[in-house]
Amino acid sequence: MKVRIDEDLCTACGVCTDLVPDVFALEDEPWAEVIVETVPEGLEDDVQEAVEECPTEAIIIVEE
Ligand code: SF4
Repeated sequence: MKVRIDEDLCTACGVCTDLVPDVFALEDEPWAEVIVETVPEGLEDDVQEAVEECPTEAIIIVEE
């Protein structure tokens, strides 16, 4: 699974970074960033939850 974040939609609310801090991070930019190339298998369900919980639907699944 690969995901990316639409920078124009992300409001840096922190939901995804709280849910899956090993995949999403708020660092240098005013939006969340994906910090892994591929989502580790054990975190796929958590990332799916983040996709559903993101209030602006900014997390995009690039590859299932
Ligand atoms: Fe951005 Fe969505 Fe993550 Fe909030 S949950 S920081 S809006 S990508």
